[in-house]
Amino acid sequence: VDTQGNATFKRLPTNQLVEALQLGIQYSVGGLEATPAHDVLYQDFLTVEIIHFPKGGRTTPKATPPHRFNDFTIRSYAPVAFRHFREKFNIKPEDYLSSICKPFRELKNPGASGSLFYLTSDDEFIIKTVQKREAEFLKTLLPGYYMNVTQNQRTLLPKFFGLYCYQVTEFLRRNKNGSGDNKNIRITVMNNLIPSHIQMHEKYDLKGSTFKRRANIEERRKESPTWKDLDFMEHHPNGLLLDSDTFAALAKTVERDCRVLESFHIMDYSFLIGVHHASVHTDSPRERRAESGASNDSALPPSALRRMYSTPMANIQAEFEEHNKPDDDHLAKTGGIPALTTDGQRLYLYVGIIDILQSYQLRKRLEHRVKSVITDGSQISVTHPSYYSERFQKFLFNTVFRKPSPRLSKSGTIIG
Ligand code: ATP
Ligand code: CA
Ligand code: CA
Repeated sequence: VDTQGNATFKRLPTNQLVEALQLGIQYSVGGLEATPAHDVLYQDFLTVEIIHFPKGGRTTPKATPPHRFNDFTIRSYAPVAFRHFREKFNIKPEDYLSSICKPFRELKNPGASGSLFYLTSDDEFIIKTVQKREAEFLKTLLPGYYMNVTQNQRTLLPKFFGLYCYQVTEFLRRNKNGSGDNKNIRITVMNNLIPSHIQMHEKYDLKGSTFKRRANIEERRKESPTWKDLDFMEHHPNGLLLDSDTFAALAKTVERDCRVLESFHIMDYSFLIGVHHASVHTDSPRERRAESGASNDSALPPSALRRMYSTPMANIQAEFEEHNKPDDDHLAKTGGIPALTTDGQRLYLYVGIIDILQSYQLRKRLEHRVKSVITDGSQISVTHPSYYSERFQKFLFNTVFRKPSPRLSKSGTIIG
């Protein structure tokens, strides 16, 4: 926060960052429409479109509007490749633009990295600032990521729809040889996993590690905290029950995704779970309580609904079975994964893998050496990627998700 009380990031007022980004994306995506779609070439991953936005605007080579900030520059990385990713997920250019060009909502980041998070007002996209090494890593990841996405769209991996960099032009001029790097702000556009019009009664960021994996005091005080591994084990000592088909579909998707992450030596990623408690229409006190806490989704006008380019159920290639289908049509459309607590509360889960731009090679080796002498090596979250992936999956499919025991009937009631 600066002296006038405005929010800042790297000393830049954040509203300026948002507007600059919106102008940049508008220009870049709009400009692409002139280039007819073609197959993505390897070169397309390496292209950087550099767009200058002088304060007074310009008319050549292509017009940019005047604006109220200092001159700035937006770099749009691999614009043609990202256009192709967006097409793969059925995001039309006009939809992307209309999502991006409306005001964003800032999200409070529970992470330690200090990244800024924004949500587009239609709830579809998350805008996250990333560090230089993360942006560099994403660039090297793109061709392989592209290959994976074209082979398999059913994935819980984050979907990246754009990578941009904001720079104050004045600074660029003074630091031709790159020393002004701390004035660059790198931004990714990704899919939003947690629909904001569905009440999330619980939210977990899980890694499969127990070392320091508990939400801190500050997080606990929040209205809707993001809990961690140890908190999960406390809240759900018997895990969450999934139908056996759903369990298998989820496990298969995560296994496949983890294989991709491991192949890029990625680690430190998390499994994000938003938990919605479905309201139940019975008279038991427990369920009445659940009902009163449920959201009044049906009261929302249809315009507040997301277009949703993919739902959790679609991502794991599962379909609702009759007994699992939400009564509420609006809830059904969001495609949350049906689950049960061991005491019979019906849940819908919104899930995905997040924070994947951390590569082992880039910085973890030393840290591991330091931390493993402090504690038993299996409990820390900084380890080798293949070990990380194995522990991650083991935690998810032994501790977090469970297959129903025979005592659970199809209708979700506990027998005997
Ligand atoms: P750190 O590196 O300290 O873990 P970070 O700044 O890299 O933090 P992330 O781990 O990516 O941040 O995300 C932090 C939190 O933001 C998550 O726990 C989750 O609550 C929320 N979040 C992140 N990505 C998404 C997404 N795609 N959809 C919805 N919520 C998200
Ligand atoms: Ca994280
Ligand atoms: Ca991170």
